Amino acid sequence: MARNGGPGAFVFGQEEVKEVLEVLNGRYLFRYGAPDTEGYTHKVVDFEDEFKNVMGAKYAVATTSGTSSLLACLAALGIGGGDEVIVPGYTFIASISTIMISGAIPVLAEIDESLTIDPTKIEALITPRTKAIMPVHMLGNPCDLDAICAIARKHGLYVIEDCCQAVGASYKGKRVGNYGQLGAYSLNFFKTISTGDGGAVVTNDENLYERAFGFHDQGHKPNRLGVEVGNRSIVGMNMRMNELTGAVALAQTRKLDEILTTLRAKKAMLKEMLKDLPHISFRKINDEGECATLLTILFDTKELAEAFCEKAGSKPIAYSGWHVYNNMEQILEKKLAAPTMNVNDREYHKGMLPQTDDILSRAVNISVGVVDKGLGSGYGINICSTEEEIKAVGENIRSLILSL
Ligand SMILES: *Cc1c(COP(=O)(O)O)cnc(C)c1O
Repeated sequence: MARNGGPGAFVFGQEEVKEVLEVLNGRYLFRYGAPDTEGYTHKVVDFEDEFKNVMGAKYAVATTSGTSSLLACLAALGIGGGDEVIVPGYTFIASISTIMISGAIPVLAEIDESLTIDPTKIEALITPRTKAIMPVHMLGNPCDLDAICAIARKHGLYVIEDCCQAVGASYKGKRVGNYGQLGAYSLNFFKTISTGDGGAVVTNDENLYERAFGFHDQGHKPNRLGVEVGNRSIVGMNMRMNELTGAVALAQTRKLDEILTTLRAKKAMLKEMLKDLPHISFRKINDEGECATLLTILFDTKELAEAFCEKAGSKPIAYSGWHVYNNMEQILEKKLAAPTMNVNDREYHKGMLPQTDDILSRAVNISVGVVDKGLGSGYGINICSTEEEIKAVGENIRSLILSL
């Protein structure tokens, strides 16, 4: 079976091995330590420091996953208890499930042809209970952040950026994650850079940093400065990253910009080969600073998309599984661990987002850096593909589309 995974996982090398070995040789795997603690290699602290610098943000908290990062963002903002959060119906389930788990109510929104939340459909969803918008930078493409932030400002709403699929993407010259109050990142196996599992939160607000940090570690102040007892301000969880993960995260963060440059060049090559074809267009890219992890083709009709996929051994995004609200039965049926009052009066059902359904039935993902059947991108190229391989895949896609 062909390899899958994100681009970071494809370029694992001696850099990751060296960092991990330092930790193992120190035999001290916990993220906290005093500077003179024997064997302490402070990889998590170094990762937080470098990650925030790369993202151009003031603060970063390392976590165990993108899911825990989103939970920490919601907690930092005090969102729960029947608050409403507007979130697109095309996303990984974690965007929606974390809202529910926080005790808040996910209000599903349409996407547009960028495959990110349609800003023109947001205002109609705002009620007196709305607290936040959670734009998701899907498949590495930044959302229309200018429009979203303008709506948020006008209505006094928070913005939590779900950057899990867009680590390193930028919008108008600034990295995503800096436009909202907080940004959540994932480092799981399929993301731009990877530690197998892992994540981070970034923010530019000191108070939100302390709350997110506290929530991720039982209410403690950042890095347990020895002033804890009596000063813990929030009931939290344990979402701490350990040093082994921190070591890999550090090595991967140092590769991020090179990964993005490589992906953008490879994607441009593939796209150039396909641009004159009939029956298709490409999804709208909101900023050239996108991650270029995928190439999404929009067919004129659902039938053409299906015919293409049959030949390519793939599936239109609508049927690819994981990331479409229609396929999230545990959300639609509100199968909460312990049912709360909050979502009882809500109805979620298949087909509730007709614009999203139409777009996704015509959309097909071709892998560039993220090779993931669950995302509908089991077919395409990867970050290591040579020029000849890219040409061969491009020619194959051309001939399949021309034969439709
Ligand atoms: C992957 C992903 C998450 C969750 O990240 P995990 O690290 O798997 O918990 C959240 N949102 C989106 C959009 C994702 O793609």
